[in-house]
Amino acid sequence: MPIPPIVWLVFLFVLGACIGSFINVVVWRMPREMSLSKPGSHCPACKHPLAWYDNVPILAWFYLGGKCRYCKCPYSFKYPFFEFLTGVMYAGLFWLYFVKGIRADMPAFEQGGWSIYAAHIILLSCLLAGSLIDAVFFIIPLSISYFAAVCGLALAGFETRALALNNIIPDNFWQLAPSVGPETAALAIGGSIGLLGSMLLLKYGLIRRSFLELEQWEQAKYEAEKAGKPFHSPEPAVNARAEMIKEMAFLCLPVVLGLGVMKFMTAPEGELTLRWATMLHNHHWLMGILGSVYGYLIGAVTVWATRIFGSLLFNKEAMGLGDVHLMGAVGAVLGWHIPLIAFFLAPFVGLGWALVRLITRRQHEIPYGPFLSVATVIVMLYHDKLVQTLMSHFMGK
Ligand SMILES: [Zn+2]
Repeated sequence: MPIPPIVWLVFLFVLGACIGSFINVVVWRMPREMSLSKPGSHCPACKHPLAWYDNVPILAWFYLGGKCRYCKCPYSFKYPFFEFLTGVMYAGLFWLYFVKGIRADMPAFEQGGWSIYAAHIILLSCLLAGSLIDAVFFIIPLSISYFAAVCGLALAGFETRALALNNIIPDNFWQLAPSVGPETAALAIGGSIGLLGSMLLLKYGLIRRSFLELEQWEQAKYEAEKAGKPFHSPEPAVNARAEMIKEMAFLCLPVVLGLGVMKFMTAPEGELTLRWATMLHNHHWLMGILGSVYGYLIGAVTVWATRIFGSLLFNKEAMGLGDVHLMGAVGAVLGWHIPLIAFFLAPFVGLGWALVRLITRRQHEIPYGPFLSVATVIVMLYHDKLVQTLMSHFMGK
């Protein structure tokens, strides 16, 4: 007998509230370079360790009256608020996917749908944490994007297997999970080998890191401020165009190897071509895993190419590398086409808000992560309709 949805909804709300509590910890500690596990949770004012019953998500804030039990310093309402929001997000996504059924062909939760839900909800949690940090500190910690991408990669094989078991044809896998055909699979393999190669070249100094001087200067400034010492060294002048040459050099090997391996493994009438296609067709999990890698590459390269073109054009650093990896993670979890759509949607999401902020506070820097995240969520929720519209526009299907 299947478990009734209401049981899942309650369980996922509670789970989400606990994750929300952890996200609060991540958002506070990660940009301050503190460990996530040690010390255990304590009052930020009086440092008194908190017992588990003073740490219950949402409820604790209310029965403590929004104050520390020991020093009575007030705790912000945003803590229970984000715990509640995360709980609603966890239950809400389940409701939309498995009760309301907003995504066509979604397998039942117990029949593998759980793997799609798990990948998507982990991504949403990471987008929430990343956006909250980005909104205040103007950085998206790379570890958050990497974590989402690795979870997406690990779950992708389960997702495509579940779709196959529910009689979805492999050509349609991409609608619900990362997936590839023979060409894109070969491109993903070549591209990731090239990426590893470039990272080795970077490590051994054969290609140079972009913005290294500026980064070292920022690090020195940060450390001086932390130690309370004066810091007078002037900010190094950076030529964004010259830095972009370094980033293009980094991307050369992945692009060349990606296209090369694709040509080699899918040459028309080659023996390897048929064997490769057959092998992929017989191993659905492999389609998922390589689909996740391909999604990462497409998501990251889309933003990266925009960054390079923008920086060359304006001679000013455009889009952060944090955005590159964020959209890479979105592609790794949701498949290659989602970051493409979300990336072009994000400016519209951000436009009004950004204008207001630029006018009122004269802030030059705009955190872009939250807009990318909101755009991603919109694409997730309106996926079927959006994809259908785009396909009928561009491909006449
Ligand atoms: Zn206290």
